[in-house]
Amino acid sequence: MSTTTIALGISLTLVIGLVAGLGVLSLFFGVFEWVFGRPKLTFLKPSEFEAGFAFSFHWNAAKEPAKINNLEVRLFNPNGNPSQVQIKKSFDPESESFSKEVDLGKRYIELLGAQGFDSGRVEIIFSSTTDGVNFSFEYPASKFKELLNAAGETLAEQVKEEDEISWDAKTAIPARSFIADTVPGKGAQLAIATNPVFETYFKNMGGGGGSAEGAADAPAQENFTVEKVWIEPGCIVCNACEDIAPKVFEVLADTCIIRPEPPLDDGLLIEEAAEACPVEVIKFTKVTA
Ligand code: SF4
Repeated sequence: MSTTTIALGISLTLVIGLVAGLGVLSLFFGVFEWVFGRPKLTFLKPSEFEAGFAFSFHWNAAKEPAKINNLEVRLFNPNGNPSQVQIKKSFDPESESFSKEVDLGKRYIELLGAQGFDSGRVEIIFSSTTDGVNFSFEYPASKFKELLNAAGETLAEQVKEEDEISWDAKTAIPARSFIADTVPGKGAQLAIATNPVFETYFKNMGGGGGSAEGAADAPAQENFTVEKVWIEPGCIVCNACEDIAPKVFEVLADTCIIRPEPPLDDGLLIEEAAEACPVEVIKFTKVTA
């Protein structure tokens, strides 16, 4: 066998290996996204209303922004009576994952007690009347009942648990007063316009606020346009960036996102937000001439 044939064989094996590796990798990420990224409905134990339906609904609001304000519960019961029940309930819009108990009234009691219920199907739909988005969950009716009966936690208990978790987090992370306080572990104050200490500094920059030691002499800085701004993992949802540039940053329950089509012409404001971020996860690039 010639050297050329051997080299060709090795190259071919490497290429096939690479293609197979990429295929496996993309399959893995696809499965990961499918398992962890898709909307999730968890049943809670109703405690407030006789015909209460309590739940937690999670979806990726950064990927699919929507103001969810409608719940629909449908029973398809072709072999029973009634053969179909449809209940709609509106509530105040929710733009991120939320938990709620809603009163579905007598129709819900009728739905649960329908003759032949176990052989039917139940569909739960969350939708947004303003954004045209909906998320649908479908169950065999017997499974729906089983999940309802298995729900062990009420909404109040879930909220209490979340409060305890966030209280733990608060003990580990400084409260929002950090805006004017010394950054723990850094020995420096945050240079943001809302901190009176930096008033002169930001005036010199053409922005708003005060003067840190040595900052009063800082030269005036011209504004600039940002090409791209993004948030790296690690946000501690302190709200500083949204307080400074609300048109650019939106702080959600567990992270911060960049609003769709944010104004990028006030680079100094974005720079100020990036400097204010206590965990330095706001990054941006400037437009180059
Ligand atoms: S990105 Fe930074 S400043 Fe904005 S909320 Fe998260 S931690 Fe706070």
